[in-house]
Amino acid sequence: MSSTSVQAILQHHNKQLEAVLNLDPGSARIEVQCLLQAMLQVNRAYLLTHPEQLLSDEQQTRFADLFERRLGGEPIAYLLGEREFYGLTFKVTPATLIPRPETELLVELALQCILHPDPSLRSPQPSPSGRGSKFRVLDLGTGSGAIALSIAHACPDIEVVAVDTSDAALKIAQHNMQQLKLGNVRLLRSDWFAALQGERFDIIVSNPPYIAADDVHLAQGDVRFEPRTALASGSDGLDDIRRIITQAKDHLNANGWLIFEHGYDQAAQVRALLQQAGFTNVFSAHDLAGIERVSGGS
Ligand code: GLN
Repeated sequence: MSSTSVQAILQHHNKQLEAVLNLDPGSARIEVQCLLQAMLQVNRAYLLTHPEQLLSDEQQTRFADLFERRLGGEPIAYLLGEREFYGLTFKVTPATLIPRPETELLVELALQCILHPDPSLRSPQPSPSGRGSKFRVLDLGTGSGAIALSIAHACPDIEVVAVDTSDAALKIAQHNMQQLKLGNVRLLRSDWFAALQGERFDIIVSNPPYIAADDVHLAQGDVRFEPRTALASGSDGLDDIRRIITQAKDHLNANGWLIFEHGYDQAAQVRALLQQAGFTNVFSAHDLAGIERVSGGS
């Protein structure tokens, strides 16, 4: 095998990624850098300051393998085995959804409710009943744990319960919880509220599946490789959201909030569902792209 340098790889592979995956030049360049960093186990500064370093035959083979998989469409997060979310690093595998930047809005809204209670919004009071007086947050369908663990990390004094139906996903969430050294999170296998009989929370958050089962996006890009059960939800995408909304009241403390993510065009429907279920203070919030992405009520 002829020897190849870091620089040669950085110069030649991005064009191919741009062409095959239709990536913009900036993203393609960063992806090649990330794959090289992961393979060489070095940081970005090292990579950019050692352009002349030659790859061994074994390293070239490993890089070629990763690069082929990326050209085949596998998400970069699965190839790297991790994704950053809310300033923390989460292990991700094909058993979990890849955390999206827009989902950080959900974390921010939950933290606002916990840390800066606004009396005009009738923020929940920690309940004196049940398991002590700690403020309790529930995350439904936690996947890698990105939402639950980000909240638990920001608020060490609250109790977070995170559930998922997938044992494989729970294993990843468990790994992430240990990496972050969090002692205030309970992970549990549950189909939505099924294993939570009699438990009440001050905030319930969720990024449930919300894409219509026949949506063409499910056959495009990264989502092709993500767990279908974390993405699709019935003919209009709202099956799971309907289920969560109707069951949530039985699991909320007085003035508790249900806050969840939904599709770009579902905000009005979701607000109507919340109102029908008896929620007040119903709101929708815009993500950084200006899309109504998260709704909730108390
Ligand atoms: N936001 C994701 C997407 O559009 C979907 C995530 C979800 O269904 N919860 O690809």
